Amino acid sequence: MILNGTLDLSADPGGIAQAADLLRQGLLVAFATETVYGLGGDARNGEAVAGIYEAKGRPSFNPLIAHVASVEAAQRYVKWSDRAEQLAAAFWPGPLTLVLPLSEGHGISPLVTAGLDTLAVRVPAHGTARTLLAEFDGPVAAPSANPSGQISPTTADHVRAGLGGRIAAILNDGPCGVGLESTIVGLAGEPALLRPGGVALEQIESVLKTRLHIHQSGDLLTAPGQLQSHYAPDAPVRLNANSKQGDEVLLGFGPVECDLNLSADGNLTEAAANLFSALHTLNKTGRPIAVSQIPDHGLGAAINDRLRRAAAPRDS
Ligand code: AMP
Ligand code: MG
Repeated sequence: MILNGTLDLSADPGGIAQAADLLRQGLLVAFATETVYGLGGDARNGEAVAGIYEAKGRPSFNPLIAHVASVEAAQRYVKWSDRAEQLAAAFWPGPLTLVLPLSEGHGISPLVTAGLDTLAVRVPAHGTARTLLAEFDGPVAAPSANPSGQISPTTADHVRAGLGGRIAAILNDGPCGVGLESTIVGLAGEPALLRPGGVALEQIESVLKTRLHIHQSGDLLTAPGQLQSHYAPDAPVRLNANSKQGDEVLLGFGPVECDLNLSADGNLTEAAANLFSALHTLNKTGRPIAVSQIPDHGLGAAINDRLRRAAAPRDS
């Protein structure tokens, strides 16, 4: 059934197969998890991930959680460790997200990690979500399925009210969740609690037999401002450039002569999908980076937010 241009799929084998197929096509599907409805897109497909930001109207790029069907699936994308094994054995499937170093050849879009070299992964416990992930057989980036700044959705009707007409389908599985977010544990360095959530700190500490470092709210990885240093290229960045000056390389947008173009067609979704890899590539040249003007509407707002951070004066 199509309502508002957004398919209403029921959570039976036919509906789940169709949802997996839409994900394979790079389209967006909202689905129930044990926390809230998530807005899913193929985490390997930059344009799909850009579409998530676009549909939500998010004004900035924050790293997203990749949802997978199993430990084996997670191991394709991150470097596994003894601690990851212990926590996964105890709490997966369930509301625990692990942040681990990306593996070689992971294939994850840098828009999912917002340019970081770590990935947040989780195996959700919700039956339909797991079946969908197993059927899709790939990583699904899925923040909550609501417009940015609005309340997280716990029914398909909430999702439709917020995002109807902007996403391909809603896999309708009735009301979900207690609304408690997943606990996020960082395992890329010393084990750290990055966000409290559905699994208690004490339970995690008792499995790992160690205390976790606790990040306060407004911490390193949840506050976008703090992510600045991760995103910032080494070289100075100059915005709204019409052409190159001196030794600069030019990151273009639209029909301009440049060293690398975010989107020659002036397509903001394509530009968002290319943003982090483009900054990374140009950073490797060791030269200062000039960037074309980018319209400030739609995804352009999030792109410009990121570029302004990259161009901001650095703390020495
Ligand atoms: P959610 O809002 O439930 O989709 O969860 C996203 C949260 O995961 C955000 O607070 C992110 O900052 C956090 N997150 C995602 N990826 C990473 C990462 N690689 N390192 C640290 N935190 C992450
Ligand atoms: Mg949310």
